Amino acid sequence: MHLLDRIDRWARRAPERLAHISGERALTYGELVRRSDALAAYLAETLGGDHTPVVVLGHKEPELLVGYLGAVKAGHPYVPVDTIVPAQRLERIVALAGARLVLTPDQIAALSADPVPAPRGRRVEGEAPYYILFTSGSTGEPKGVVITLANLTVFLDWMVAEHDFAEAETFLNQVPYTFDVSLMDTAVGLVSGGTVFSIRREDVAVPKRLFQALAASNVTTWVSTPSFAQVCLAERTFARPMLPRVRRFLFCGEVLPPQVVAQLLERFPGAEVWNTYGPTECTVATTSIKVDHEVLARYSPLPIGRPMPGVQMPILGPDGAPVPPGERGEIIIAGPNVSPGYLGRPDLTARAFFELGGQRAYHTGDWGHEQDGLLFCDGRMDNQVKLHGYRIELGDVEANLRALPGVQDAVVLPVLKEGVAQWLAAFVILGPQAPPGSDFARAQALAAQLGERVPSYMVPRRFLFVDTFPMTPNGKADRKALAERLA
Ligand code: AMP
Repeated sequence: MHLLDRIDRWARRAPERLAHISGERALTYGELVRRSDALAAYLAETLGGDHTPVVVLGHKEPELLVGYLGAVKAGHPYVPVDTIVPAQRLERIVALAGARLVLTPDQIAALSADPVPAPRGRRVEGEAPYYILFTSGSTGEPKGVVITLANLTVFLDWMVAEHDFAEAETFLNQVPYTFDVSLMDTAVGLVSGGTVFSIRREDVAVPKRLFQALAASNVTTWVSTPSFAQVCLAERTFARPMLPRVRRFLFCGEVLPPQVVAQLLERFPGAEVWNTYGPTECTVATTSIKVDHEVLARYSPLPIGRPMPGVQMPILGPDGAPVPPGERGEIIIAGPNVSPGYLGRPDLTARAFFELGGQRAYHTGDWGHEQDGLLFCDGRMDNQVKLHGYRIELGDVEANLRALPGVQDAVVLPVLKEGVAQWLAAFVILGPQAPPGSDFARAQALAAQLGERVPSYMVPRRFLFVDTFPMTPNGKADRKALAERLA
């Protein structure tokens, strides 16, 4: 059944059931469908027959879900952009997407107020783009990953089959909508008739508010990055009495530390903990494993599990041939969940995507190996890092630093604790137009200027000013030698 029909069905069966809760605000299934129909009618009239992406800008407002569904009901993929993205980068995303409309929650509320039926025969189908997510690009330009309805449907069907979600579950939505892990709670939640419970940035910033919100949430399915669970686990009362109904914790997006699982199993007896893995280019997640006491006792680091049905994940060596079990190589994903590529970038698409055994395949850029029939992710082959769950190409930060008038050159590195990135540090060679003042004042000035170009989570916390970079024999900045200076 079409994803939109699966959601509409709940609006007919349980129109008063809550589809979304965000702070003091809530949206029923009836309203979600009625409003998204009305918005779709408006978009069909305004944009005519084209299929240009529609940018939907906001944080966790209930209108955003109306915006996403409204766009696809009118045949347009949506591009979620969080308010954490500065104006300059938003402008680039709008231009790169070729979007003719940027919708804010207020606009969506106004445009969807009157009940108007959705246009007929317009919605996104099959191989057409359903959403486009802009991720960090190594040259400083965000790149748009195109995900089709067919891609998303494969993912949703797998999730629903694997987890036997009960009707009317509550799904925790903490991850920003710009990060596809959010579809593990929003899309999975809506097709299974559940309630999506959003935690907003402003709630996370104030621990008392965060835990009050969680205690009031009634969450049954927890979806987040491991980093967020780690933040919660620092609070002693984050345990069964706070979330009495929680049945499962689903993690994705970064390494799941065994200590996090151990604490969750202890504090939430009876709940399952799942590790899932996958890049945005392969639609949210591609592998999974339930991490129980046995898996926990046996493996450290933890495995990422097995691929979803219909997907091949060979581990290839530098010669392009599969490596024997136990040996390290690149993780490849081939299957119906693999994106058609990057929007408007055939060059980048050709580099990362290829055909394998008649299926579309993607070079993940992750080192991996197989052991006991399970896959393990052994880190990146390139300069992409995960910082508190955010995917960042260090080259993106460097290119945006170099674009500042006072910067001649820059190398950005993650500062690690037990192998996990904690924050970013930038080594900077200043140019003639360097900001004046002490190193501290200069660092502040650069951080402020950079913050106008990239989201705040990409701004280095520490700036180190140097005259030259140490060089490798082939004339590149020696990142290893610089990293040693941070140790
Ligand atoms: P994103 O496209 O933001 O989902 O980031 C995908 C990348 O995050 C992968 O290529 C991995 O490097 C990393 N990643 C995602 N899930 C996991 C996991 N469960 N364990 C280890 N790394 C992960």
